[in-house]
Order: sequence, then C-alpha cells, then structure tokens
Amino acid sequence: MELILYNTKTKKKEKFEPINKNEVGFYSCGPTVYNYAHLGNMRTYIFNDILYRTLVSAGYRVKHVINITDVGHLTDDGDQGDDKMEEGAKREGKTVEEIAQYYTDEFKKDWNKLNLHKPQVWCKATEHINEMQKMIGKLERNGFTYQSGGNVYFDTSKFKDYTKFAKLKLENLESSSRVEQDDNKRNFSDFVLWFTLGNSKFGSSHSMKWDSPWGIGYPGWHIECSAMSMKYLGEQFDIHTGGIDHINVHHTNEIAQSEASTNKKPWVKYWLHGNFLVLKDGKMSKSSGDFLRVDLLEKKGYDPLVFRYFCLNTHYRKELSFSWDAIENSKLGFEKLKTKIIEIKKMNNQYNDKNNNQSIEKSKEYENLFFESVFDDLNVPKSLGIMWNLINDKEISDDNKFKTLLKFDEILGLRFNEMKEEILDLPVEVIDLLEKRKKSRMEKNWEESDKYRDEIKELGFLVKDNGLDQLVDKI
Ligand SMILES: [Zn+2]
Repeated sequence: MELILYNTKTKKKEKFEPINKNEVGFYSCGPTVYNYAHLGNMRTYIFNDILYRTLVSAGYRVKHVINITDVGHLTDDGDQGDDKMEEGAKREGKTVEEIAQYYTDEFKKDWNKLNLHKPQVWCKATEHINEMQKMIGKLERNGFTYQSGGNVYFDTSKFKDYTKFAKLKLENLESSSRVEQDDNKRNFSDFVLWFTLGNSKFGSSHSMKWDSPWGIGYPGWHIECSAMSMKYLGEQFDIHTGGIDHINVHHTNEIAQSEASTNKKPWVKYWLHGNFLVLKDGKMSKSSGDFLRVDLLEKKGYDPLVFRYFCLNTHYRKELSFSWDAIENSKLGFEKLKTKIIEIKKMNNQYNDKNNNQSIEKSKEYENLFFESVFDDLNVPKSLGIMWNLINDKEISDDNKFKTLLKFDEILGLRFNEMKEEILDLPVEVIDLLEKRKKSRMEKNWEESDKYRDEIKELGFLVKDNGLDQLVDKI
C-alpha cells in the first residue's frame, strides 16, 4: 500500500519514499522543559505517534529522535526576551537543572499516559553543546555568520532561499512584530547562534554557560535541533515534524543553518506539521489562566486515553476546538467503544466453517479500507468510521472482529487488548446491604429498599437497578 503524506515543503500530498529503502529517519521538536506541557502540546505528540505507528505498520525500520530543550529557548521565538528555563527557575526558586529534570519527568509521565511510543533517542540540548559549536564553526567558515554586540548571528540575507519554506514576506513580519528589535542584527530575520554573557541587553544573568570560541555564553534555540538531528540521523534525513507555529521562524531557521552548514545539501525530505488545539478565545498557552494538562483531565475523572480518542477524531492538519463538553462527548464515545470491545472479546458470536470464510473475507475488506485511509495522509477520523462499521457488522464473527480490531489498535493506540470489565472491590458492609436490599425488593418493600440504597450511598457507592440485578458504581 502506498503511503501518502502532506509535505509542508511542497505544500502538497506526496508519495512517501525514504532516502534509504526500508529505513526512516524521523526528528520531532520536543518540549522546552520549563513548565508542564499543555494539552495543545500533547496533541502534536499524538500526531507524531500516529505517524510513527503508520511508518512501522508500512514496514519501515524507524529511528525517531526527539529533543528536550533545556537551554536557549527565549520567551519569544525570535530570540528576544528571557530564557524560558531561567525564568522557570526564578519562578520556582530552584536551579535550572532541577527545573529541567522535574519537567522532563512530568512530560514523560504524560507521554506514557497517552500511550505514545518510546522514541529511539531522547536528546537533551545541554548534552550537545559541542555539536552545536561545531556547526556554528562550519557556518562561520562558510561565510553565513557575523558577530555583533558579543553575539554570533546567522545572516539570513546570505541564504538565498530563506523565505521559500514558509513563503514568508519579511516586510509583513517586520511590521507585525510585537517585540523590541535587537539593534545588533543586520537584517530583521537574522537569528542568534551563540549568545555571549556580558552582552548588555541579553543574557547577562544567565546561570547556564559554556566556554566557546566566541566567548562564554550559551546557544540560541534553533541551532540545537539542526545539530542534534544531524548527529543522530545524518546530514540528510526523511521526516521532521512539529507544530504549525514552528513553520515561520524555528523551522525556517533550522533549514537555513542546516543547509548552509552542508553547502546547500537538501536537508529534510518531508516536513509535517500538526495544527493547534484551540480554546474558544484562541490558541492554548501556558500563560492563560486555564492551563489545561493531562493531570487536570485525570483530576476531573477522565482517562487520558479519552483525550487521545478526542484528538484522533479530528485530522491532524485541522484546528481542533477544546471544551469540556467536547471531552465529555468523547468520553461517552470512548466508553461505548470500550463496552463493544469487551462484548466482542467474550466471543459469543461465532460461525460455522462456511460462514467463517465469509466473515474472514469481510473483515479483510474493512482492514484494507482502514489502512487505506490511514495511509492517505493519516486520515484517522475516516478510519475510525470504518472501525465502527466493522464493530456493527453482524456478518463478522467476534473472533475475526477482535483480531482485526487489534490490528487497528496498532495505529490507534487505545489499548483494546487491555480493555476489561471493571470489577469493583466492594466492602463487606456494602455487599451485606445489597443482599438485604435485594430481599426487600423481592418482597416489594420499596420503603425499606430505598433506605438501604441511601445507606449504600453514604458508603460511597451508587446502586442502579436492572430488573432484579443491582448494578453498583463508585461515586
Ligand atoms: Zn526544533
């Protein structure tokens, strides 16, 4: 089956053909670990995860590299403001290293809760300062840098195709800029490769610092992704992903410095970008009052996989609106799915040999349709529709359904195999009251049965009746 992906570089869907047959080099911009990741960030990683699973299912050996930014990312992507890490440390009265470790651990916890695959390489910016300095040295030798006000800048006017990737109109960018301009720059779009301390305007009180040929200081943000991706994936590789907010500045700068360092060798073949998760009043951010993260979902009683299911229902290139109503709806959908899967797992619906062949054939048809849409630029929402059709098809045996659903779950990652009826551990008092209540109901003594219901409720359990059966749920 052909895999088709939308490439931001060419602005169209293309057949995926890796540089080396059967192998895929895949780099994703990771988190800046100065705070928790919000659900918008996690939506991008869910999209990365679906892409990874799709590549694996297409038979490729995938090497996925994700960075952890623990230095150099300033509060404005255009190299202005304070370092986010230093800001986080100040906010919490801790060292930058403590902040980085804590938020990296928290990020990985969220990662696992959303059932995201384990990348082959997690790489930390602070452990690759040497690689970054080497790359800056190359850029210097190739004539793409200048020093000004103590810092080393990339001269974007020297890189002819600078605006091509994002179809940038520099004049517009300049006039819409909200931040104070750095007077040391020769061109508005130039960016810092190396900040030196002592520069009066930026970085004077930075606690993370390294020696360098340009003075003691720290790297700019963009250089880390170029240096680390090349270290692990080579000077040319297949896929680079990130959020759409990275197209105009971060990825544009990554391309310029990477290709300038290798004398214009085309760097990345396919660029894929995930769209935003938005709130009613705009893009999700960590500074807005409503800081949404996986932990908050759990506190409100939602399984993190409900959020995963919510994201899977919208194509990764479309904007997705977040609201608690929408999450509640997804929860209902996810629970319905869970109930169906548990029912199918019981394998009540079996067929004789003759019908079984038909059932196998039909489930194979669904399987083809499912993967066809996944392979068409990760159209998972369409695949979910096909999954529901399979579930509701009465001509397929439970056995074949379940086998097919497990194949679907290799892409969806909703843990079908682990779904089971939740058996409540009831306290003896509750069991006792339930027995008494059953007796009073058989005797049609409603007053007494209501009294037992209230007593059970006081112990934290809710009783619902289904005929003579009493269904119990935790409150
Ligand atoms: Zn990056």
